[in-house]
Amino acid sequence: MHEFSLALSVINYIEEVSKKMKLKKITSIHIEIGEFTHINPLQFRFCFKILSKGTILENSRLYIRKIKPTFLCKNCKRKIKKDIKEIMELQMKCPYCKGDIELEEGKELLVKKIKGIR
Ligand SMILES: [Zn+2]
Repeated sequence: MHEFSLALSVINYIEEVSKKMKLKKITSIHIEIGEFTHINPLQFRFCFKILSKGTILENSRLYIRKIKPTFLCKNCKRKIKKDIKEIMELQMKCPYCKGDIELEEGKELLVKKIKGIR
């Protein structure tokens, strides 16, 4: 399961950061998921809950925010923020110059903020 390995890598990452910050307990985590990742937030949440048991992340609050993707036109270098449906209608072309566009943001899972107790 995709969500399982992602949840595991998020937990590993936060454990590492917590060590450096000398945190004993994590209280909340804010993550952003790009619309292009095909991550199921419910499944992610479920995996996270199971995997965080017995770690410093146990019983922490998990906030998940979905973010719209940003595209970059390879031709005119304009940034285009549209949802997937609109981009599909444009056939993956720039609405200004009809150049090819590529996905710049919105394909990642990002840990934005963590809170903990020392
Ligand atoms: Zn363009």
